[in-house]
This record gives sequence, C-alpha cells and structure tokens, in this order.
Amino acid sequence: MAVVYNFSAGPGVLPEPVLREVQAEFLSYKQGVSIVEMSHRSDTFGTIVEQLETRLRRLMHIPDDYAVLFLQGGATLQFSMVPMNLRETGRFAYLDSGIWSKKAIADAKHFGDVIVAGSSAASNYGTIPDWPEHIQDVDYLHVTLNNTIEGTRYTKLPDTDVPLVADVSSNILAEAIDVQRYGLLYAGAQKNIGPAGLTLVIIRRDLITERDLPSYLAYSKHVDTLLNTPSTFSLYVAERVLAWVETEGGVEEMERRNEKKSKLLYDALDTSPLFYALVSGKNRSLTNIPFTTGDDATDEAFRQFAETRGLIELGGHRSVGGLRASLYNAMPLEGVTRLIDVMHEFEQEGQDVSYKNV
Ligand SMILES: *Cc1c(COP(=O)(O)O)cnc(C)c1O
Repeated sequence: MAVVYNFSAGPGVLPEPVLREVQAEFLSYKQGVSIVEMSHRSDTFGTIVEQLETRLRRLMHIPDDYAVLFLQGGATLQFSMVPMNLRETGRFAYLDSGIWSKKAIADAKHFGDVIVAGSSAASNYGTIPDWPEHIQDVDYLHVTLNNTIEGTRYTKLPDTDVPLVADVSSNILAEAIDVQRYGLLYAGAQKNIGPAGLTLVIIRRDLITERDLPSYLAYSKHVDTLLNTPSTFSLYVAERVLAWVETEGGVEEMERRNEKKSKLLYDALDTSPLFYALVSGKNRSLTNIPFTTGDDATDEAFRQFAETRGLIELGGHRSVGGLRASLYNAMPLEGVTRLIDVMHEFEQEGQDVSYKNV
C-alpha cells in the first residue's frame, strides 16, 4: 500500500511505532485481558496513569506546585470549567484571537462578565491581538496560544500578575511552553498527544479551591485521584506517545523538527506562483498552516489531487474553507516534502488546464 500522510487538524496523526505497539498488545495487556477490559482501579492501570503523569511532568518541566488532571469533555468543557473554578470577582479577561477563543468567551459569559482585552475579529483573525497593556481586577486572562483554525500563535507572554490561562490544545508538546508563567493550561489530547477522549489540565495548586459545584466540574475533586472512570484507552495510548516523545529527544527536539517542517512549507508557499499562506509575519503557527490558491474551486481541485496521491485531510476548517496542513509531532519531514512535491506537480498541470473552469 502506498504511504498515506494525514494532515488532519484533529484527531491528528500519531506515531506509527506507537500504533503498532498498541495493536500488538491490544488483545492481551500483561494480565491476559485487553487494556479496554481492565479496571481503572487496578494496579496495572494505576501504573500507566502514574507513568503518564511522570512523563508529562518531565517533558514539560512541570513543577510540583502544579497539579495535573486527566479529564474528559474536551477543551470545550474547559471553556466552562475554567470560569466556574477560578471565579472570585466574576470578571474574566479574554484575548479574542480566533474561532476557538470566541467559543471560550461565549461559554465564560455564563459565569461572569467577560472583558475582551483584545480582538482580531475585525481582520477575520488573520492576525492576533496584542497583549493588553494593563490588566487588573480580573480573575484571569485567557489566551488561545495556538489558533488551530487560523494558523496563528503567540510566542511572547505579557508581564502581568493576573493568572494566565491558556488553551494549548494544538501546540502542547509541539513547542516549549514555560509552565511557570501560567496559572492554568488545558488541552484536548487528540491533536498531539493521543486519541480523543482525554483532556489535560495543568493547574497551579493555589488556584484550586473547594467550590460549590457538581463533583465532576470541580477541579478540587480531581487532584491526585481518578474521580470516576476515565477514558482508559486514551490514557494508555497517551502514555505510549509520551514515551515516544521522550525517546525521540523530548519537547525541545519536537520543536526543532516542527520549526524545520513548517519553515519548509512556509518557504514553498511564499515562493509558489499558485499557493499562498493565509498568515504572514512572525506569528505563524508551527503546527497548523492554512493556505489557499485564492479560488475555492482550485483549492478543492488540489485537495482531491493531493488525496489521490496519499495526502489526506488537507481541507481547511469547515468554518473558513481553503486548505490547511497540520504538522503535529508525528508528521515526518517526508510528509512535508511530499506535500511540496505534489504542490509543484499541481502547479505544473495548472499551466495546461485552467482549474477555474473545472
Ligand atoms: C480542537 C480545539 C478545541 C476543541 O477541542 P475539543 O476537544 O473538541 O473540545 C479547542 N481549542 C483549540 C485551540 C483547539 O484546537
């Protein structure tokens, strides 16, 4: 079978050696039963969760005064759990940098007053808003560090005493994140860590207080324990993926590779006579690269052209259209060079055929 490269934004590509390992031990994991038949309270499974946390702490240099929580509900449930659990004054600041932050803002409004401290909505989120100069008297400042749909990212952080809360769903483990600068980080696992069904929350312990909330929704009920049955399969695969990241050289090495991969693709787009990147300048994402020919029909023709050559999931997000290549950790360099070759092939064919008339 020809090689397939999966450019999906999420659930995204996972390391092939991990998938093979999972396949090999799926019927019988240590005790002669499948991992998906095993109690989450068993010693065997307890070891997996412990290992997962240990690896994550090592890879991200997470200090002891931060708790790591393994939840469900995706990043989307964190849009609500964050304001529910961090609410003191009931005033929350948000940077409105993309469609995901817009959704986070909409959900936070159920729990207090949202101050939009900066927005790039007017430019259709083609850029990111600057950090606010002065921000105070709010419970936290929320930012989407990497805008998965629009392909922008923050690299610098503001100087502020307000706890920073970041949605890192699409850049966790893809680039170095200085955990100590944040009060809370959260991420759905399905972009860069493992299968869907697992959400990571990394929270400074002093921000966790007892709340009059339904048990699942309170961070305090998840600290150092599994409150209920987690998505056991997702936890198990995530642990194997983190082991792979460690073997490959850790987050620093992932970042180096992702910089190399994304630079290759951005350079190809910047010099292409047909395609161009939707984001320019220093805030280009390392992991999600939206691009277009400027014409819907030609974009669609290329998407199909690429698909028949084993390059799949290159369509843009359904809300914005166009094309998008997601280059998560498990996307090899060869996937990117292959994409660039296929772009050139398409450009070549376009000299004979006008796709605008297809
Ligand atoms: C994918 C994504 C989400 C939504 O995640 P779910 O796990 O599907 O809820 C939220 N924020 C960002 C930045 C994302 O990339």
